[in-house]
Amino acid sequence: MPAAAVTCIDLDYLGLPGAAVAFLVEIPDHEIAHRILVECGPEACRPKLESELARLGIEPDLIDAVALTHIHLDHAGAAGGFAARGARVLVHPRGVRHLVDPAKLVASSRRVHGGRFDRHYGEPIACPAERVESVEHGEVARFGQATFRAVETPGHAKHHHAWLLEHAGGRECFTGDVAAMLVPGTDFISVPAPATDFDPLAWDRSLAELERLGPDRLWLTHGGRIDEAAEFLARARQRVAEEAQILFEVAREPSDESAIERYRGWLHPRAEAAGVPEPMRHAFLGRAFMEMNLAGVRKLLKDRAEGKADAPRG
Ligand SMILES: [Zn+2]
Repeated sequence: MPAAAVTCIDLDYLGLPGAAVAFLVEIPDHEIAHRILVECGPEACRPKLESELARLGIEPDLIDAVALTHIHLDHAGAAGGFAARGARVLVHPRGVRHLVDPAKLVASSRRVHGGRFDRHYGEPIACPAERVESVEHGEVARFGQATFRAVETPGHAKHHHAWLLEHAGGRECFTGDVAAMLVPGTDFISVPAPATDFDPLAWDRSLAELERLGPDRLWLTHGGRIDEAAEFLARARQRVAEEAQILFEVAREPSDESAIERYRGWLHPRAEAAGVPEPMRHAFLGRAFMEMNLAGVRKLLKDRAEGKADAPRG
């Protein structure tokens, strides 16, 4: 049985090359091929995704399934457009209702992103309920001889799965945001810690689980293909731990302004030393990114104070 093929499709997300991709997985099966998208980007990028698929000779109605790592709009916003043309949508149980009725997700995203919402995300189309499949941790979707296994991986989001594709060519892990992100064109790992779900202890356990599974390759939604999977997972664990540490420190600053300045003073020199040029620091690690992470750690501290999130032991 021939191996599956994975193609990274750049989405021009935020108008920036390399900012986010969708993965086309083609699985040969006798005379036919199964075609699965892992992630589909925001609705605003669906024209770009569909035109790239068309260049590969694939009309949208040939997509059998869309496997989502989580329902944040930069990963899942375009799912309804494919579901409307017959694709199954595989998602974490907590994500189902937001795909069927995106109104709440849209309202909160509009609050966070304001005027940028329409340009960057676009209003998702609701998925027909009968197309959405709730997939629990450990469940497997089979396509010919290949399988996709859901691996529950909270930390960035509570409703997060990584997908482990096992096929004749090896074991691929589609990590969503659990292996964090790369600033495009560099080797610098940035850690997205949004409210309401950021949880560094859960995140570390998730990465330890991926290390245990030992995939051959990683595929990052914000970063693409990674061949040195074990080395990268170890680095991602370290980056999540140190980012959490600095966020806990800056959250104690008396004002948002001083918190952001202190965070910038820690983050940007590290990125610069790792070869991230100023325009890329501005675009990917700028004020919006730092405000998101500060909100994430504040929400975590509030949840811990209220006993809703694990606190470190000892
Ligand atoms: Zn993301």
